[in-house]
Amino acid sequence: MELETKLDLLSDAARFDVCNSFSQKGRRYTPKRAQWPPSATADDGDKCTRPVFRVLLSSSCDWNCAYCPLRAAKDTPRATLEPEELVQAFLSRYQAGVVQGLFLSTAVDNGVNNAVGRMLDGVELLRTRHQYDGYVHVKLLPGTRPDDVERAARLANRLSLNLEAPGPDHLARISPERNWQVDLIERLRWAREFQQGTGLLSSGLATQFVVGAAGESDQDLLGAGTWLYNELSLRRVYFGAFRPVLGTPLEEAEATPFVRVQRLQQADWLVRQYGFYTAELPFDVTGNLPLHLDPKLAWALAHPDRFPVELNTAAPETLLRVPGLGPISVRRILRLRRLYPFSELSHLASLGTQAGRARDFVTLDGRFFGREPAALMHHYTQRGPAVVEQLTLW
Ligand code: SF4
Repeated sequence: MELETKLDLLSDAARFDVCNSFSQKGRRYTPKRAQWPPSATADDGDKCTRPVFRVLLSSSCDWNCAYCPLRAAKDTPRATLEPEELVQAFLSRYQAGVVQGLFLSTAVDNGVNNAVGRMLDGVELLRTRHQYDGYVHVKLLPGTRPDDVERAARLANRLSLNLEAPGPDHLARISPERNWQVDLIERLRWAREFQQGTGLLSSGLATQFVVGAAGESDQDLLGAGTWLYNELSLRRVYFGAFRPVLGTPLEEAEATPFVRVQRLQQADWLVRQYGFYTAELPFDVTGNLPLHLDPKLAWALAHPDRFPVELNTAAPETLLRVPGLGPISVRRILRLRRLYPFSELSHLASLGTQAGRARDFVTLDGRFFGREPAALMHHYTQRGPAVVEQLTLW
């Protein structure tokens, strides 16, 4: 098979890895368009993004995850790159300035040790023979042996290992070959210990959940994510929407709406950047977030006793809970209010387009310009009556 034909197959298969952004410059890309950069981007802990060459080394798999189009039992075209072919494909694009990094993963081709070893051979060739010192993200496989975890950590800037589900019971439903504790958590722990002991892995550790395949709730996913941030110092937890694929055991299951993934990402952000605890997020009685409201707005609507707050005197952590205000606008408020009190709606608008939403939750020099709670609730009730009804109960 020609190299370019293999690359078409392998980059298309790699679209299921969402450790890269879904979008660039505010635009979403379809999987096909995301094959080649600049549409695929990687981020380092939210600070910078870069176009990356995202590819699987092999799409031949020994395993049978229930949701996966590459499962062994499915008849589908497959391809495998030799490490030298990977190097050739990547370097030609890197040297042409089309990509600035590599995101490499693989299916379980002829055993975990073989598959991971061949990925690392390719990266080692890049690092040693070709002196490539740019960004590399390697996705390890469950059950990677300790010396390969260490080898990967020496070669890559970021390592990830997909948990796929938020705990052993959910995982067993969709990926019978993976053992949650031994194959996944233990491996992440080794990588974390190696990272802490050496200072390597500048872009840290990450993982990914496939949302909606195992019947898990948002509370399950976000609870597991918080544990991973706290216990294993993960840099990022990513969420990918489950899509049913013909010829798999879950072909009849419902696709996860993309908005659910968006809400999870927003809630994850609230926990990491806004000082929210997972337990206080606005879950409904089934443990899920409302889909029609972003979680911060839903939380504020459910806590009318906490608002309005005075913009000119409120503590930074209180301002961060106001819908429409983020860390950047809060920093600007703190700086500006020392010089000039905020007293007019136009002052709020000058903070940015989102800040207008804050008028319903703040006073400006003692004056309130927003809607009263009943009117506000009515406004959002029109967008999702059942969920807002539940919100009022909490
Ligand atoms: S290990 Fe599971 S998710 Fe990964 S390629 Fe194989 S079947 Fe798909």
